[in-house]
Amino acid sequence: MDPGLWMASLHGGHCGEFCEHARGTLRGALDAAVEAGFRIYGLSEHAPRYEQHHIYDSERAKGYTLERLQLEFERYAEESRRVQRLFEGRLSVLRGFEVEVVPSDRYAELMQGLRSRHAFDYMVGSVHHVAGISIDESPRQFGAAVDACGGLEPFAVRYYETVRQMIEDLQPEVVGHFDLLKLHAPAGTDLATPRIRRAAEKALAAALAGGCILDLNTAGWRKGLGEPYPGPWIVQAATAAGIPFCFGDDSHDPSEVGYGIDRARQYLLSNGVASVTILESSGRTLARRAVLLPM
Ligand SMILES: [Zn+2]
Ligand SMILES: [Zn+2]
Repeated sequence: MDPGLWMASLHGGHCGEFCEHARGTLRGALDAAVEAGFRIYGLSEHAPRYEQHHIYDSERAKGYTLERLQLEFERYAEESRRVQRLFEGRLSVLRGFEVEVVPSDRYAELMQGLRSRHAFDYMVGSVHHVAGISIDESPRQFGAAVDACGGLEPFAVRYYETVRQMIEDLQPEVVGHFDLLKLHAPAGTDLATPRIRRAAEKALAAALAGGCILDLNTAGWRKGLGEPYPGPWIVQAATAAGIPFCFGDDSHDPSEVGYGIDRARQYLLSNGVASVTILESSGRTLARRAVLLPM
């Protein structure tokens, strides 16, 4: 088997053309992916948000509107198709997008609609909102989400319940940053109490039933957390359950493409994971294949 195939990222390539909090161009991200030695690179720009109160503060400050978010996503859908052809023969580019779970009463319909309208190859299922409030935008918003749930433990349980529901609703090929809830959690807080673990394990069971791949997402290191997403206990629980992993650099700038991938390979190996699962284009569908990690 081709020994370099493990160099695949299935979550990343956010860029400044289509995302306010990213930089650079889609073309630039893919040039960087070729340069970094990737064989497969999955693009997963953020889905648009559909309600005014879900516009981020940084977007509001620049005058972003819901219409603009939707228009930029439409342009992303086209541009991702163009670069997929442009890189043919050099890099297998997969066209995907990263979902949102808001608005809670109709996100599933909206996300499935985006997928079918633009014929995306795959989806990255992520939860960035709990109780309708953004948990990764800022510590202030994170605090508001915790307060809305009545404390950190109920918040964490609600987060994993939202992940489980999202997986059941969308059956995404990839589940993104499975324990994103830790990003703004105060240092030293226990996010693996028995109640939280039970909720996380139910989400893992849904991932197994849905045939999902978890991304080993290096942005945790990039953001100074000291570990990637997910942390060791989740990697071990997922592996024991038979859930596969892929890599995701979650890049938001060409300079972040490939960040931490070799460290991520070592991290998986040290947590008992011997292979990653890649997605390969085969006609109109994607095939999954497990690829051994070099030791
Ligand atoms: Zn982002
Ligand atoms: Zn994300």
